[in-house]
This record gives sequence, structure tokens and C-alpha cells, in this order.
Amino acid sequence: MKLILKVLLINLIAIQVNAQSNGNVKNIRKALQSIAAEYSPTAHIVFTKVGNYKYQKYIYHKTKSVVLNYYNVPVHESTHHYNDLIRKRKSPKEFIEKNTGAGYFIYPNIEIGMANFPVYNSIELNDVIPDSIQVKLDNYETYIGGNDIKNLSSQINGIFGLMDEFTAYSTGAKSQLELYNYYLANSKTGFENIEWWGSFINNLAGCISDYYEFKLFIHWYLAHSKNAHFEEYEKIMANKKLRLVFTLADQNYNQVIKAYYEKVAFICEATQKYANSLRFDYYENQTYKSLMTYKGLSISSVSYVFEEEMEFSRKLYELLDQSILNDFRIEGATKENYRNYLE
Ligand SMILES: [Zn+2]
Repeated sequence: MKLILKVLLINLIAIQVNAQSNGNVKNIRKALQSIAAEYSPTAHIVFTKVGNYKYQKYIYHKTKSVVLNYYNVPVHESTHHYNDLIRKRKSPKEFIEKNTGAGYFIYPNIEIGMANFPVYNSIELNDVIPDSIQVKLDNYETYIGGNDIKNLSSQINGIFGLMDEFTAYSTGAKSQLELYNYYLANSKTGFENIEWWGSFINNLAGCISDYYEFKLFIHWYLAHSKNAHFEEYEKIMANKKLRLVFTLADQNYNQVIKAYYEKVAFICEATQKYANSLRFDYYENQTYKSLMTYKGLSISSVSYVFEEEMEFSRKLYELLDQSILNDFRIEGATKENYRNYLE
């Protein structure tokens, strides 16, 4: 239900932005590529690496506004494809022969492949996580719950599948952030157009709200593994490459979130001087909620929806035993020195 709400609200914004973004695009794939080449190094790497993969199918309308609003989606889906290519190149030979192993892309341009092993199905978490919490998380039913085995990687491949999603969301979010310079270059009225800038913030906020949810899923998976599948937990903890993937993708995502709040603050400043422009209220908990009013049309709930979701999962995450993910992280590893931890 919440997912539908999210899409509807994005469409509302999409209609508003149409005027600014010059309507239709002839060729979605070319539009995605040319924006990537000029503005998004992350999307450019991913689109280039996946070759002929038809990522354009994830953009459903031939309008520039839809291409911009959903830009992270073809990047996300391409990251899954790219991860599989890394698996086929970088897993140990005997794993590639058996069509198993795991591979992950982490921006900037880090590829890590590894051996994997059978793990418990994430659907077991349904018995551990209260229903009242499951229903409040946008992605829970889609990726884990629903009591119906869907043959999804995030279920049957457990922690390895969840990590595939985590890296795909991280890469998608980074690409959406990188569109900032596109929005700047293509804004005909600087910071006066509220739908334009509201749309940028809202799309990025949507990507970030997924972050805390997948951290929760990974946390819960590991905690349950420690409680109920201890042998498996020890094998996961012995897999330094998998832990390195989480450590680096988490750092990447944290940089995106930091940049998000900086951009929100900056756009807030820049739009202040315009009447009826984008306004942001500052709350004591250090988060911004945006209020957009334009010629009597109130669309204030748009950003509010994502911020609410993000706050719920962030607070839930902060209440949990932090030692689970702290133990899982490789202490001291960074994108600069990660090679030292590969062996
Ligand atoms: Zn995915």
C-alpha cells in the first residue's frame, strides 16, 4: 500500500515537472546514457559494464520527468546484472562451474567476488519480527515476508541476497544524488521553480528511506543467525569479503545521506528569497521536512512521506543492539585500503 502511495506521489510531482523538463524523450536508453555520461559517473560505470542489458525497460514512460524521477531504478537493476557478471568472473573457479558464488559492485569501481554457502531462508524472520513492525516497512513484504516463498534472491540466498540488494540500493541512491548538477544546469529559473527542486529532493529521499530498512534486514538476519543457526553465523563471520562489501557499501551510502542533508540545507537557503517557493522547516531532531506550496496547490505531503518512513526505520535501527553490525563490519577498512583485507 505504501509503495503505491510513493509511486502516486512521484507521479504527481512528475506532472508538475513536465513543463520544465521539455516533455518527451525519443529514446529512453539514449537519454539514460547521455545523462550518465555528463552527470552521473556511477550510472556511467554501471551502464557501461552491463553492455547490452536492457535497463531502459525499467522506465515506463517516455517523458524526461519520469526518466529523472526513476533514474535510480535502471541503475539499481543494472547493478544486480553487474553483480552477477562479477560473480561469474571473480568467484573461485569451482563455484563458477557450479553456477554459484557471489559478486558485488561497490562504487567507486570496486568489484569483489567470493565463495558462498547454503544459508537459511530470510522468510524465517517472519517468526522473529513482530507483524506490527513488518507492515510499517515498505520493503519488508516485497523482499522478505509475505509468508509466501517467492524464489527471490533476498529470501533463498539469505545474507548474500540481502547484500545484493544493499549494493544495488547504494548504487542507485548515489546515481540519484549525482543528478544534482543536471537539475542545476537544466533549471531555467535558478532556484525559483519549486516543483523542480522539490522533485530532486523527494526522489533522493525515496532512495535513502530504503537504506535504513535494508540495514534492519541485514541486522535481523545476522542476529537470528547468531541465535538459531550458530554454525552458519560463524561461517558468515569468517567470510571477510562479504563483511568488506557491507563495510564499503555502508560507507558509500552514508556519504550519500550526508550529501542529501547538505543539499537540502543549500536548496532551502537558495529558495528562501522567492515567494511561494520551497520552504523547509527545521525540526529539533536534525531532520528537515519540506513544505511546498505553489499558487494555492498544496503538495506538502510529498517529501513528508519519505522523511516519515526514513525516521521510523532509522529510529528502529538505532534502538537495536549495535554490536551485531559493528562485529560484522571490518574495522579500519576503507575504499582506499580495502585490498589489504581481501586475502
Ligand atoms: Zn533489487
